[in-house]
Amino acid sequence: MNPNFLQTPVAYLKGVGPNRAETLKSELGIETYRDLLHLFPNRYLDRTAYYKINQLHASGADVQVIGKIVHIKTVEQRRGKRLVATFMDDTGEMELVWFRGHKWIRENLKINEPYVVFGKVSKYGKTFSMPHPEMELLAKHEQGLKIAMQPIYPSTEKLSAKGITNRVLGKMMQQLFLDSQGNFPESLSPKIIEELRLISKSKALFNIHFPKDQELLAKARFRLKFEELFYVQLQLISKKMLRKQKIKGLPFDQVGEKFNTFFKKHLPFELTKAQKKVIKEIRADLGSNAQMNRLLQGDVGSGKTIVALMCMLLAIDNGFQACLMAPTEILANQHYNGLKELLGSMELKIALLTGSTKKSERTLLHNQLENGNLNILVGTHAVLEDKVQFKNLGLAIVDEQHRFGVAQRSKLWHKNQIPPHILVMTATPIPRTLAMSLYGDLDISVIDELPPGRKPIKTVHRFDSNRLKVFRFIKDEIKKGRQIYIVYPLIQESEALDFKDLMDGYESIVRDFPMPDYQISIVHGKMKPADKDYEMERFVNGETQIMVATTVIEVGVNVPNASVMIIESAERFGLSQLHQLRGRVGRGAEQSFCILMTGSKLSEDAKTRLQTMVRTNDGFEIAEVDLKLRGPGDLMGTQQSGLLHLKIADIVKDNQILKTARYHAIQLLKEDPNLEKPENSPIRIAYTKMMQSAVIWGYIS
Ligand code: ADP
Ligand code: MG
Repeated sequence: MNPNFLQTPVAYLKGVGPNRAETLKSELGIETYRDLLHLFPNRYLDRTAYYKINQLHASGADVQVIGKIVHIKTVEQRRGKRLVATFMDDTGEMELVWFRGHKWIRENLKINEPYVVFGKVSKYGKTFSMPHPEMELLAKHEQGLKIAMQPIYPSTEKLSAKGITNRVLGKMMQQLFLDSQGNFPESLSPKIIEELRLISKSKALFNIHFPKDQELLAKARFRLKFEELFYVQLQLISKKMLRKQKIKGLPFDQVGEKFNTFFKKHLPFELTKAQKKVIKEIRADLGSNAQMNRLLQGDVGSGKTIVALMCMLLAIDNGFQACLMAPTEILANQHYNGLKELLGSMELKIALLTGSTKKSERTLLHNQLENGNLNILVGTHAVLEDKVQFKNLGLAIVDEQHRFGVAQRSKLWHKNQIPPHILVMTATPIPRTLAMSLYGDLDISVIDELPPGRKPIKTVHRFDSNRLKVFRFIKDEIKKGRQIYIVYPLIQESEALDFKDLMDGYESIVRDFPMPDYQISIVHGKMKPADKDYEMERFVNGETQIMVATTVIEVGVNVPNASVMIIESAERFGLSQLHQLRGRVGRGAEQSFCILMTGSKLSEDAKTRLQTMVRTNDGFEIAEVDLKLRGPGDLMGTQQSGLLHLKIADIVKDNQILKTARYHAIQLLKEDPNLEKPENSPIRIAYTKMMQSAVIWGYIS
């Protein structure tokens, strides 16, 4: 085959031409033969099965029936006519219906000859009817090359309107296979093909479009999914290897006085096993010659803050500064106060920088950062501003990564001549292999246990009609000295409505929980930061018992005495958000509760979300359900990873294949980092091509 064959513009294919090529491009993004070849069917119709008329169901599936036309008539209808044929087999009769092309059909259909008809059936009264069936004389059908599975290609309205039907797409594909003689270059090494018993590339491509049987189809699918994931992994892993070689890290080779003093004198509790393990992993990174880029996953309340602090102490012990960034002012404040408390009497300079830091303070702070008088800077996005320069930033920590983009992370890189080590912390856990693929350029640590003595939060689902009972429960808890969160959704699209709900809710709560017995705080996004802080502080200090809020409190806020979380319109929240919100309680010694309030009408997905929340407190389990419900599209990082544009593999459903692909990509790069060995040349060639035309794999790094 001509090596450029697959680059040929699709317009040159027989049966395509410039007009269809235009439509293929605008509707399916198909420009070349290669693009067409990689238009994989969504599903297949099994044309090996034949139905009897008395077995039919109006299921929406296409079926095949063998019978004879016994009668044809034209039926007048309000607009135009329809042609109706009575079709019979030995179990009953049905109708075949045409709304156009009557003349041709009447002249060509044969009465009383066995036909195979194929199409969707619908039911009118007691009669099944098949509109515009595909028809073939049984005799011819039996001779013909039987494609057992008929491929069904992705379609759009415009495609069908322009006459590019499934059948036409199938024809194009056949033409492509004729022109190429079904001979396509192999793109995996003999070793991988042998170890995994894969079928060849050509065989896989043929059988994905024209499967001979179920078994070959399964093999073709496996091979193509594997290959797709393998190349994504190859790219991620080689990028990471490159970074480790090229980007020298700041050497943190000693554990010094600050770290040890803190560990011996100030650590308020014993670290969990998981925390110790993670600190060890991070220390190994910091001590190596490469720059650290690590993701720390840990469920809400698993104790990431203390890990962050101890890493910052390591930086300081090695003569560097450290910074900790949080996504909101409230959280930055809380981190700042929390860290100061943890550090106690230790002699360290720590400061806070947010949007509300006053100008005079800011100038002072900038100076201290630049001359190295400040050890730790805690802040919001304000830290990223160009004006903020460090003397020698050695470690940057980002809390709750999903609010930060990749661009912001890279800004951190430039805060020091040699990029600082970077630790990204997140409480949105995702399955490990998935994480490795999504953030392929990050290493991953997981805190997989909670500190001891936590009582699992009791979660229940209540309908709005039970509100009075819920309010009585709240009053009892307040009597015991507890504090309560009541959270309302605030979702961008319906902000005005949501805001009204929040205010209505607030007013009714004020009515049901009157002063002076009850004090109520309210916090929402439309308030000035200073007002927010004031209200928040009253709640933190226990001056108010109820906090009415929108999801601004979702992230990080720590009030151990708050033991009840009420989530209003819980059906409107996503699972990970519900889990985050619930994580605001259960931080103290008391039994905590989460009450999910909903209306009576719930979608199936909403029911699953609520049941999952009631069933488990495990963030990883919740993340998996979430992933199954929503697909990976909403996960942080997916947009950048290219994994959303996969043509055949599904990173959630094909997790097992993903693991295999990752393993083989690692093995390959270990043995042959530059893909120089002759036996790996198919991979090198395919990989190079892929990198040149990122579109094929949609991989934009
Ligand atoms: P998150 O991982 O959600 O950021 P935090 O770091 O805020 O969690 O920790 C949650 C709470 O658990 C804090 O009050 C913290 O002091 C406490 N904590 C953390 N580690 C331990 C531990 N090993 N033993 C007991 N309590 C701990
Ligand atoms: Mg936290």
